[in-house]
Amino acid sequence: MTPDISKLEAFLSHTDDIALIGHFNPDGDSLGSVTAAYHYLKGRGKRVRIILPSPYPDNMSFLEPSDPADRMVICEKSMDEARRLVAGAGLIVCLDFNRLSRTEYLEEDIIAAHAPKVLIDHHLAAELDRFDLAYSTTGVSSTCELLFRILLAMPDVAGDLQRLNLRCAESLYVGMMTDTNNFSNSVFPGTFDMASQLIARGVNKDELQDKVLNCYTVSRTRLLGHMVKDKMKVLPEYRTAYMVLTRKEKQRYHFQAGDSEGFVNLPLAISGVDVSALFSENDEGTYVRVSLRSKGEIDVNRFAIRFFNGGGHRNASGGRLYMPVEEVPAYFEQALAAWMEEEKFS
Ligand code: 5GP
Ligand code: MN
Repeated sequence: MTPDISKLEAFLSHTDDIALIGHFNPDGDSLGSVTAAYHYLKGRGKRVRIILPSPYPDNMSFLEPSDPADRMVICEKSMDEARRLVAGAGLIVCLDFNRLSRTEYLEEDIIAAHAPKVLIDHHLAAELDRFDLAYSTTGVSSTCELLFRILLAMPDVAGDLQRLNLRCAESLYVGMMTDTNNFSNSVFPGTFDMASQLIARGVNKDELQDKVLNCYTVSRTRLLGHMVKDKMKVLPEYRTAYMVLTRKEKQRYHFQAGDSEGFVNLPLAISGVDVSALFSENDEGTYVRVSLRSKGEIDVNRFAIRFFNGGGHRNASGGRLYMPVEEVPAYFEQALAAWMEEEKFS
């Protein structure tokens, strides 16, 4: 797949000021894609700023641009600056989300901004009509994989990875590695091709794996044990397991952003479990975050849209519930029964 980059090139030729926007609760693919785009564009002499709605996990801090003047702007800490950057940009690039509402705070600002808007994303049902140019496909592992293809097609790279700086290559690898859960989900032939090319470029796969995946605290590991041992409920008749993480538990285990990353995948390792859900209460107790995972043809994207105010991909979706955390198990079990009936899995 070679993306058509002519319109993107035209936008880039008209401005030096670019705003890159990631999604709320940024994960490895969100951070990898905004920082990869940052490093590429800086190499072309552009002024580039990254805007994220909410803070990123500590273990990703190595992805921060080294120039202090270019540090990522977090809306929850510097809303005025984020707004100013969106309004003042000559080009806005949104990465790794399909709807502007995933920016939580910036939807109106992005709509009102004068700059052309570009989307680079791999989720289903993107809001294409809100962008002047959209690279949107679900046929890739991650936004980083799509961005990799776009960058290879750029005239100054022209398929030669040696012309891509190493930090850009590392960012791309991080997004692809994390969104595939280290090559176990959503892996396409092109994904291995990309990994192979990036490693040949000089990306140190073991070092990145260590930084990003083997970086947890003792209390996070104990929380994981607690969730699996004391909180996981298995519903064999629905081939489903779920866990609910309350904010009290988060406090008890000194929870930091990103600590529950990967929890939702664990029940899928149980024979007979094809659907897994993780519910986690936010720190203010105002909503419960929902993470859903499934195997094969089971479509949790539809489940997330129908019952959890969210969406995502067929086998990995998320959303939110606005109800007290104590009510979540009953709601989930009813929703599960209704959904399985609808989808005729049961
Ligand atoms: P996670 O469970 O890792 O937070 O998210 C899994 C997938 O669902 C990701 O691709 C993410 O973009 C998507 N997702 C997570 N939360 C939401 C949400 O609130 N709304 C929508 N539309 N998608 C979400
Ligand atoms: Mn992604």
